[in-house]
Amino acid sequence: MSLTIGVDIGGTKVGGGLVDEDGRILATALRPTPADDTAGVIRAVSEVVDELRGDHDIEAVGIGAAGWISSDRSTVMLAPNLSWRDEPLRDKVAAAVDLPVVVENDANVAIWGEHRFGAAKGFRSSVLYTVGTGIGGGIVVKDNLLRGTNGVAAEIGHMRSVPEGRECGCGRTGCLEQYASGRALTQAAREGAKADPDKARFLLKLAGGDPDAVTGKEITEAAGEGDEVALAAFDFIGYYLGNSAADLVQLIDPGVVIIAGGVVEAGDVLLDPIRKHYTEALAKRADLPVAEIQAATLGSKAGVIGAADLARQLT
Ligand SMILES: [Zn+2]
Repeated sequence: MSLTIGVDIGGTKVGGGLVDEDGRILATALRPTPADDTAGVIRAVSEVVDELRGDHDIEAVGIGAAGWISSDRSTVMLAPNLSWRDEPLRDKVAAAVDLPVVVENDANVAIWGEHRFGAAKGFRSSVLYTVGTGIGGGIVVKDNLLRGTNGVAAEIGHMRSVPEGRECGCGRTGCLEQYASGRALTQAAREGAKADPDKARFLLKLAGGDPDAVTGKEITEAAGEGDEVALAAFDFIGYYLGNSAADLVQLIDPGVVIIAGGVVEAGDVLLDPIRKHYTEALAKRADLPVAEIQAATLGSKAGVIGAADLARQLT
């Protein structure tokens, strides 16, 4: 049996999995992510690898990390959440664990997991949106990750949805991430509840009457109960996601468009408006064969499974 380890370096935790060639996770390990401490993160990754390795014969380690990863998949050029710059993560971890290591962007490992074992399996080309606090993107074309010249392709969250729109952390304005992320959902619901409290009765009840205390979980629950403001907030982000997907379909012509990330746990209250606006935005293109919008199926495990499978390609 061929075993590799996938590790997901998140903002709060370093999670790893021992994964077989069929994408099954046989064991998991977890450490908190040390804040602003590069050496600490590398130590946490090697502890996770050592714990999972046990007596197993491991072939390689794959790491998924948020940020811009160099085209040779060795260096984290910039990771905003971890304050890393030009960090040679691959070589440092490889030295610590004495195994081949590959480093990849977190959304790229997620789409790779879905491509090999999840919702995009069976399609040679696919597009993935990770809708969480921000928006990550991944694109597979003819069974290969679209990585670009410098390793930083498929940053769908930073494509412009609104000319001269909201300011984004990346320095641009009008990025999709500012209109369709979990943060944008919460913002839309809070503003809606303030503007028209009568239409947000259920939502405000859940939030103890305070619009600024509204959370994503409460918006999902309220939408399920038919709360108008909560439904309008999902329609707001669905509009931008659907329109973005229709644009990417013109460019890539994928077999499927996958929606992943924490917000997709909301289910149809998110997917229905995305599909509606997607079909509208496609216009006559919708009459031709065209990708469907589907929810990811591997959930939060996609990153670990995808990273482990990419590591297998090293061997
Ligand atoms: Zn941006």
